[in-house]
Amino acid sequence: MAVRTDIEGILTATKVVVRDPAADAVRDIEADVCVVGAGIAGVSAAIEASRLGRRTVIVDSLPTLGGQAVNGIIGTFVGLYSQGPDPSRHRQLTHGIADDILRDLGAAGALHYRRGFWTTVMYDEVALARWIERTIHREGILPVLGAVLTKVERDGRRIRSVQLATRYGVVQVSAKAFVDATGDAALTWLAGLPCREPAEGTVYGSQVVVLENVNTDRVPDRTEIAARLDERGDLYGLVRKEGFAFAFPGKGTALVNMTHVETPLDPVASAIKSLEGKDQADQTVEFLKKEFPEAFGESRVRAYGQLGIRQTRWIVGRYQLTMDDVLQGREFPDAVARTAWGIELHERPEAHVFHAFPEGHVHYVPFRSLTPPDADNLVAVGRCIDADVAALSSVRVMGPCIAMGAAAAHAFDLMLQRGGSVHDVPAQSLRERIRDNVEG
Ligand SMILES: Cc1cc2nc3c(=O)[nH]c(=O)nc-3n(C[C@H](O)[C@H](O)[C@H](O)COP(=O)(O)OP(=O)(O)OC[C@H]3O[C@@H](n4cnc5c(N)ncnc54)[C@H](O)[C@@H]3O)c2cc1C
Repeated sequence: MAVRTDIEGILTATKVVVRDPAADAVRDIEADVCVVGAGIAGVSAAIEASRLGRRTVIVDSLPTLGGQAVNGIIGTFVGLYSQGPDPSRHRQLTHGIADDILRDLGAAGALHYRRGFWTTVMYDEVALARWIERTIHREGILPVLGAVLTKVERDGRRIRSVQLATRYGVVQVSAKAFVDATGDAALTWLAGLPCREPAEGTVYGSQVVVLENVNTDRVPDRTEIAARLDERGDLYGLVRKEGFAFAFPGKGTALVNMTHVETPLDPVASAIKSLEGKDQADQTVEFLKKEFPEAFGESRVRAYGQLGIRQTRWIVGRYQLTMDDVLQGREFPDAVARTAWGIELHERPEAHVFHAFPEGHVHYVPFRSLTPPDADNLVAVGRCIDADVAALSSVRVMGPCIAMGAAAAHAFDLMLQRGGSVHDVPAQSLRERIRDNVEG
């Protein structure tokens, strides 16, 4: 269409009115299932709930979907496969949207499998972001983005609605069931239900960066990087003396995760820490460029993720998963997720501890660890379920997060069919629905 050059009609083309802000109304939305938090766990819950025919809303404080998986550029799915010395024997432990993502991103050349004792899957974060956006849109899930949870209305044991502050005004979502996928148990906390936090010490987060223009054939492995960090990291002022730079062959990029940053719940301190994280990341990049010039000499930062948060606040559930459960590979009749990923503790600035399990080991997450005892229509998923620090460090990775999201959707579907509390959903009925994620 040709560009109009005349200005006639401009003032009448758009009709303008004067409005009084006092008349601004709360936007009301009704749904069957309201998922608060659009990280990988919340996205899984929302897609599964919608596929079960439930009217679903997904809310996030960020203006984008995908949580840390996209915006923190976590970059690698772990905990999806069993482990052992022979990668050809590794089997996929979580299905549901994991199958769709592996199929679609694989077909688009947006995955890179790293096969060794572990099978981990690197992904292109832009491709994952678009996959999530397209799927949420296609499934007819209502997104409410840039929406911070401010208030939760609870009527005894039932949550009735949540209030959200957005740049365009207040939104209220009333629903029959709520999923707390906020990572920080924000929904459970604002509902006035008790939560756990570290009394002392902290679980460090990390600032991830993606480097471009990397000579991916020359990227050193993590033991070589760790040895150099040990020897020369102080010269660059580095806090953390290990970590990794994983090459993504064919893309000329590397995913770098070599920082340790505190992630307090205090709103101002957390913002300051996110800036410190970027400074740490810059020092890391300088280290890589100078110490490994064949691989990184010409590289530059393509993207900084938002500061990656491992653990802050989490629910008190009907059952707390323990390190002993994880070490023993304890099975539960109400198991809803499983993984073989090790215990991965980031409780010291300079390094993390990783405890790997023998071949064939798998451990499980019971539904009771997802459900606060005093709420009938609330299920937590992802990195804010009830587990001790060691157990949570293993089950918060993305494989089991996807499985927990699916379990929440099916549990609510059963609850809405039967009536009553989500606690009364028979473990056997739920298991039949999510068998692929806990058996076989
Ligand atoms: C640095 C780092 C590296 C990791 N590496 C790996 C790895 O390689 N592979 C792997 O599988 N896992 C890894 N993990 C773990 C894994 O990435 C996370 O535990 C997982 O992504 C958590 O998903 P989630 O959906 O539970 O939470 P998140 O992705 O944190 O999503 C929570 C969402 O809730 C929203 N939210 C929070 N509060 C509110 C509120 N009040 N109102 C509205 N919205 C709110 C947030 O904006 C966010 O989008 C890593 C974690 C970190 C931090």
